[in-house]
Amino acid sequence: MIYGVQLGAVTVGRDLRQGMADCEYWRKEAGLEAVEIDFSHPALFSDGLKARVLISEVDGALEKEIIAFGRNYRIKGGHLLWTSMGIRLVSADERVRAASFKTIEDSLKKASELRLDYATLHAEGCTEDFKGILARLSKTAEGCKVALVVENMGGDEEWLAKTVREINSPRLSMTLDVGHFYNFHISKSNKTAGELTPLLAGFIKTCKGVLGNVHMHDHSGQTKTHPVDHLPIGKGVLDFRPLISALGAIGYSNSVNLEYGSADRRDIVESVKILRSAEK
Ligand SMILES: [Zn+2]
Repeated sequence: MIYGVQLGAVTVGRDLRQGMADCEYWRKEAGLEAVEIDFSHPALFSDGLKARVLISEVDGALEKEIIAFGRNYRIKGGHLLWTSMGIRLVSADERVRAASFKTIEDSLKKASELRLDYATLHAEGCTEDFKGILARLSKTAEGCKVALVVENMGGDEEWLAKTVREINSPRLSMTLDVGHFYNFHISKSNKTAGELTPLLAGFIKTCKGVLGNVHMHDHSGQTKTHPVDHLPIGKGVLDFRPLISALGAIGYSNSVNLEYGSADRRDIVESVKILRSAEK
């Protein structure tokens, strides 16, 4: 597997340049080969993580730095803005809708200029409306030769996989966020994390050619503890063997990015070690 980090989610209290330096440490210490740069904004960021920079604001020296940084990784992507930062692609308000669409379109173009392979976008529901938006954004992605990878928010996994297939664009795929799956299904189905893992592994096995990226993290198995999810691998209850084995079974060759907040850089090294041993 090609392991990486979602830079922004992992380096708590670190800014973009410090985060890129952390990545270089992990590249050497843990052999990471992928990176997903989180482009979010200080003034808008309300999720408790240290903010980075808006992708639209990247130019000049920083643009050159990001391009040079990316050359060290086999797979590099960007995580685009989402609802808590004002993006509402499916808003009933035409102005919000149009502004959100343009922001995401411009972000895809900028991702291409930054020589990124893909850009992650959070899904906004399982509707024909959102499907139409994804179809239009896929055309933009095709035009600028960057992949648009849409991330499940929990409970929308089957719909997303089906939608990606139906739109059938060479530049549209899905980011599977493991924790979002468990969050939704633990609270809705009364099943334990252990009972849900075979279901998730089974779902992964139906996703050959659909998955463009994975956000991997551990889960507490609870719905009320804090934090519930986005935990370092080994700090929760998940058994990663069936998941890694399912990814192997479909010949998955895209990034598996660790996505959790930790102030301890060694956590990433340990997480990768655990996942690699789950491959055996
Ligand atoms: Zn995620």
